[in-house]
Amino acid sequence: MRTKRCTALGLVLLLALAACQGTGRTARRNTDAAWHTPTEVQSMQLADAFARAEALTRRYGARNVLLVFDLDNTLLAMSTDVGSDQWFDWQRDLPKDDERRVAEDFPGLLRAQGVLFRLGTMRLTEPETAGRLRALQQRGCRTMVLTARGPETWPSTRRELDRHGLRFRDFAPGPAGGWTESYQPWDGARDVLYRDGVMLVAGQDKGRALKTLLTRVGARPLAVVFADDKQKNVDQFADDFTGRAPETWMYRYGGEDAAVKRFHANPAPAAEQWKLLEPCVKQLQAVFGETYSVSK
Ligand SMILES: [Mg+2]
Repeated sequence: MRTKRCTALGLVLLLALAACQGTGRTARRNTDAAWHTPTEVQSMQLADAFARAEALTRRYGARNVLLVFDLDNTLLAMSTDVGSDQWFDWQRDLPKDDERRVAEDFPGLLRAQGVLFRLGTMRLTEPETAGRLRALQQRGCRTMVLTARGPETWPSTRRELDRHGLRFRDFAPGPAGGWTESYQPWDGARDVLYRDGVMLVAGQDKGRALKTLLTRVGARPLAVVFADDKQKNVDQFADDFTGRAPETWMYRYGGEDAAVKRFHANPAPAAEQWKLLEPCVKQLQAVFGETYSVSK
């Protein structure tokens, strides 16, 4: 009897152990199959990132996939040379004594670009973007914008996204609409804003900023797709997201590369455009004050 009881008990223990091991194997198998280092792709069309996100929705479920777009020279680009992303980089790197500089220092350049964002308009880098975005959002995929712009550019940023039918508010991670106030994402960081599915990180590490946001809202996507025209951002994103989500795909988008190259080959038209604008900006500043202030 005692032997039978022991045998029966042993059998139960064995079955329990087998069940535990089974669970362990399953967990390990899922982990092994899905977790891998971030994958980088050089891409000339946003369709590649959209297609990747769509494929991942079939694998992980739409709500577990997060598609993240940069804004400038990825979703949208300035309609004019002056105020464009390439104009900003060119201005930033000009020598201090170069007469083509529009501002005396970096904060002044940021203010100048803010004024140009307010006055200028943007174009879609690809006409199909709004349709592709809506189709993916309707499937339930999470989508958002992650831009290096500062929180102060929010009104003009939102206006141009709206004008082109690019809406993220109801499809982004976290509370609907995000937060109306900017906040400090980590000690020593500049304030960022997360509003209507658009995160403005004020020139800081995008991957780090997104990680803090996902932690803050308790979101744990199983797959993240990130598209950005700047290699530096893609590299940072790879560092930040290694081990953060089972699958991370980064698309270095080159659709505007030719326009950027053209600009740098001849920045004279942009310098001329600023010369024409400068008196108008000064008049706007005289009437509206700080909103249109540029330091030079
Ligand atoms: Mg960009």
